[in-house]
Amino acid sequence: MTQQTFANQFAMRCPQCLASNNIDVTAHVDVRLTRSGSDADASRSGDHEWDAASAASCGCGFAGTVADFLTYQCQNCLAVHNHDKMIVPVPDLEKRLEPGDRVPDGECPACGAVCHQLEDSDDLEQEADEEDREDTPDNDDGGVSDVEIKSLPGDDL
Ligand SMILES: [Zn+2]
Ligand SMILES: [Zn+2]
Repeated sequence: MTQQTFANQFAMRCPQCLASNNIDVTAHVDVRLTRSGSDADASRSGDHEWDAASAASCGCGFAGTVADFLTYQCQNCLAVHNHDKMIVPVPDLEKRLEPGDRVPDGECPACGAVCHQLEDSDDLEQEADEEDREDTPDNDDGGVSDVEIKSLPGDDL
């Protein structure tokens, strides 16, 4: 199973190419007008704002809104889905929700469990992976390491 990681703090990834390191968001920014032009750092707010409705695009050519890039993690199989891959709304939501439960954002298309939005890359839960080791480098001239030495019969005369 491939481990999902995010190259941005917002747990966002492209719904088309699944990359998280190539996303541009169109933000609202105040600029101070100066003799040399406009300066975002000098503005009173010094801030920039964007939300789920802001335009966002990916280097692969996908263009949409921030909402398209948000991700949701299955609470059962830990798969990560973009919004367009989930089943929304969750079927039989009222029956499945315990009092005090966080309201899920959709249903996992893989296993049918509920999914919650990832708001921060740190929220991502990784499956404990004991087989973490990649294949060990193998030298091609070997192949004799595991020879089993059997005692030969008929040697007792
Ligand atoms: Zn992309
Ligand atoms: Zn699932």
